[in-house]
Amino acid sequence: MTGIIFDIQRGSYVNGPGIRTTVFFKGCNLKCSWCHNPESRDFNPQIMFYKSKCTSCGICKQFCESKESCILCGRCTRVCPNGAKAMCGKEYTSDEIMEIIKKDIPYYENSNGGVTFSGGECMLQVDFLTELLQKCKEHNIHTAVDTAGYIPYSHFEQILPYTDLFIYDVKSMNNTVHKKYTGVSNSLILDNLKSLLATDKDIWVRVPIISGINDSEEEINELKGFYEMYGYPKKTELLPYHSLGEHKYEAINLELIRFRTPTNDKMQKLNYLIK
Ligand code: SF4
Ligand code: SF4
Repeated sequence: MTGIIFDIQRGSYVNGPGIRTTVFFKGCNLKCSWCHNPESRDFNPQIMFYKSKCTSCGICKQFCESKESCILCGRCTRVCPNGAKAMCGKEYTSDEIMEIIKKDIPYYENSNGGVTFSGGECMLQVDFLTELLQKCKEHNIHTAVDTAGYIPYSHFEQILPYTDLFIYDVKSMNNTVHKKYTGVSNSLILDNLKSLLATDKDIWVRVPIISGINDSEEEINELKGFYEMYGYPKKTELLPYHSLGEHKYEAINLELIRFRTPTNDKMQKLNYLIK
């Protein structure tokens, strides 16, 4: 089976315990206004164009054999001397990905690490994800799935036997805020989290904290109230917004909305509240 992947990061210390390889699936069904990986939204491979790096040398045009519409051959990305063009997204077989993953098995073993499947929304390619999770388990590799949870619960049931840890994004407990900034309601996401909390799986909840949007004490208290009703995850990570992905918006012709990073004081307060 094949899937569309836009990045594979090896030797990472984020996205789960220990040293990890993170496989980023292309395609997402949320449109978070603050997303730092906006190139993950589209399900198909695409060419990113960084206008500020382009010197208009014309080399890419000389090598392009498709005079009408782009056929995503990737030639221009390889010949551009300034790195102004980049291919985002590639079709891989599960065996090709496993070859990359298996190189790091000694690191996983020495650090209690493993593999994290992320995105985009990796669960939208659930059959491909299941195959990869099964293959990881055949090699006794710890597996984590990073999801925004806006998918039928049957997808969770399909991967539960092969998943050790869920990293579960909650963008806002306030449905109006959620709809405004992600494009969808949070009710399915919270229902799925409730069902997942009733299983014996490890769960880390992650909340991106955006100043003036979801950084109120009410938000965090509401999340805590949810835990009190349905169970506590193993961990909650509040992640302050950062602007590192801003340059990518122009490269894929998406409108950029700027947000503010919460202060350290605010983060301390919110972290104290969620303990
Ligand atoms: S090769 Fe690169 S720098 Fe030259 S015109 Fe094309 S994108 Fe711009
Ligand atoms: S990816 Fe290929 S077809 Fe598309 S613009 Fe570049 S060279 Fe031309």
